[in-house]
Amino acid sequence: MSADAERAAWLRGALDRASHEYYVLDRPSLSDAEYDRLFRELLALEQAHPALRTADSPTLRIGAEVGATHLAKYAHLVPMGSLSNAFSAEELEDWATSGRDVAGADFDRSGFCCELKIDGASMSLTYKEGVLITGATRGNGSVGEDVTANVRTIRDIPLRLAGTGWPALIEIRGEVYMTFEGFERMNTERVAAGEPVFANPRNSAAGALRQKDPAVTASRPLRFFGYAFAVPGTTTLPFSTQWELLDTLASWGVPVAPQRQHCTALADVHAWAHALETVHRATLAFAIDGGVVKVNALAAQADLGSTAGGREPRWAIARKFAPDISETRLLDIEIQVGRTGVLTPRAVLEPVEIGGTTVTYATLHNFDQIAEKDLRIGDVVQVKRAGEVIPQVLGPVPDKRDSAHPPAPFRAPTHCPECGTAVTRGEGEVAVRCPNDRCPARHLEELVHFTARTAMDIRGLSEQRVRQLLEAGLIGDPATLYDLTEGVLATLPRLGDKSAQQLIAAIDASKAQPLSRLLFGLGIPDVGEETAKLLARRFGTMDALKDATAEEIEGIHGIGPSIVASVTGWFAAPENRVLVKTLERHGVNTTEPRRAEAEGALLGKKIVITGTLPTLGRTEARELVEGSGGKVTDSVSKNTDFVVVGADAGSKLDKARTLGVEVIDEAELLRRIGR
Ligand code: NAD
Repeated sequence: MSADAERAAWLRGALDRASHEYYVLDRPSLSDAEYDRLFRELLALEQAHPALRTADSPTLRIGAEVGATHLAKYAHLVPMGSLSNAFSAEELEDWATSGRDVAGADFDRSGFCCELKIDGASMSLTYKEGVLITGATRGNGSVGEDVTANVRTIRDIPLRLAGTGWPALIEIRGEVYMTFEGFERMNTERVAAGEPVFANPRNSAAGALRQKDPAVTASRPLRFFGYAFAVPGTTTLPFSTQWELLDTLASWGVPVAPQRQHCTALADVHAWAHALETVHRATLAFAIDGGVVKVNALAAQADLGSTAGGREPRWAIARKFAPDISETRLLDIEIQVGRTGVLTPRAVLEPVEIGGTTVTYATLHNFDQIAEKDLRIGDVVQVKRAGEVIPQVLGPVPDKRDSAHPPAPFRAPTHCPECGTAVTRGEGEVAVRCPNDRCPARHLEELVHFTARTAMDIRGLSEQRVRQLLEAGLIGDPATLYDLTEGVLATLPRLGDKSAQQLIAAIDASKAQPLSRLLFGLGIPDVGEETAKLLARRFGTMDALKDATAEEIEGIHGIGPSIVASVTGWFAAPENRVLVKTLERHGVNTTEPRRAEAEGALLGKKIVITGTLPTLGRTEARELVEGSGGKVTDSVSKNTDFVVVGADAGSKLDKARTLGVEVIDEAELLRRIGR
């Protein structure tokens, strides 16, 4: 076999293995950049030597074969394609040149519909007479997996299409994805519950879709954007461009991604792609791995057709971003002890630039992951940074480890690095914990949590400052913060008079925070912001809550037995009762207006807030709405009562308009709640 043939065979094997891990196991071991590099190498080899292209080459196939799983197979009514990639402006120009060879001037005539390339899992939704009957993964393009029960749990996906004009049988294509916030929240909850974390939003979305139990899928924060549809047989559509197609999808109640742009010439597409990568990407709440450029006119799309084998349309291309993965050295693995005692390893890296930001720390999630990846201090590692997600270490680069003198394997700690107490690990749990309630590191985190913006909001009391105060022996539990005076603070190095004054003022001001924030700040296990609000609004005072029975607490809608046990257990501990008393003695507010179910100007109203409001921040606006009995939800549906719109509002505004939901501005919101 020639060297080229050998290389091609090796590449086919490597790409097949990677695709199986990526699509079937949802657990990639290669980075996308590495996969794309190998894919292009194979493509170049096959182009130079067409005889090397085998019928089963990954360059001719879509996704991966659907294996034997618990899910039934589903044959798509119309096959699903993939996209070819352009990694630079030149490659985009090459795509246009080949397109003009086929369609002539029609290629450019209607301009280009430029969309976000959502980094999620492809999905096909079949609607019959407007009713969702099937949700299926892409699979190999012809046959996917039937995940209908799971898809029905995704609240973004309409079970029945709104509006009119939809064909009797239609497959709506789009992407199931997760927001960064949902992804991070899910991983934090999994760490706390001792479960393994997910690698990235894309793989966790794909994994969530393929669950056996729809209840598990429902518990994952999945969302959906539609971007295409297919109708079996021939149909005449009442519109002629991709742009109108997206508008039409929105009018049927299908969420459509924001920030699309119509570019009249390819030069504008280059500018759009550049701005997307360097500016807009960072503002998005979900991951994208590039943009998709589509010839706008549907007639020109039909003329252009697909590449041989139907793998990729000629009328669309993914303009992919530069890889957001770099290599650097792992200098150390630090161990942090959290508020609840969980020990979390963190990678200290030789500073490296990824996507325009210098990365020095990256998350390692838990000790099992370090062992699984065999990460060793001193290794060269691959680090990924995507959008707002905390950078993560993907793994060591084995070829770059000195095989003669390999670094020693990393050993998970047996004792808390802060207080020396032997760590514990629950049966079947991933999390390793320090069981010592008095551990100084836990203490620090408790105080930092108490002062946080979403809790008592003591501005100027940074983690560093709390640490300094703790080390100087000036504070202990949260109540001791209220013993501080300007005089005491003056004894601290590096703290000027003015800062001391401001800090005391901020501490003082925090005494007026409502009970819900205090409850949240006290770090009662399982009592997050929402639960704290429910408790405060039901009981009205700390006294009433302190003496409430389990039955009384459990009577609150949204509070289950584990929270009840946690709250009653917390108040039963004598030291917590003393803490509460001391806080009250300092004049800290322990009340909040009770809100029976029937109060508030926005009682029972479902409200969506979108865009940047002129004066209110997001949290503030949400609190105002909730304070008036309303509920803020993420997506617009026909059940939404009204949408509050600020500057740069995107698809939610479009959707509100198409669904005929009332749209108001901040001033009107304030008027309605009597402010
Ligand atoms: P792709 O993800 O590069 O592009 C095609 C897909 O983009 C479509 O199927 C669709 O699901 C999605 N998409 C998102 N937004 C869209 C929009 N607005 N319009 C149209 N489509 C949109 O292609 P692919 O075939 O799904 O996967 C190939 C890619 O997957 C590779 O380039 C690589 O990055 C990655 N991959 C990685 C590994 C690995 O081991 N890391 C293995 C296999 C594939």
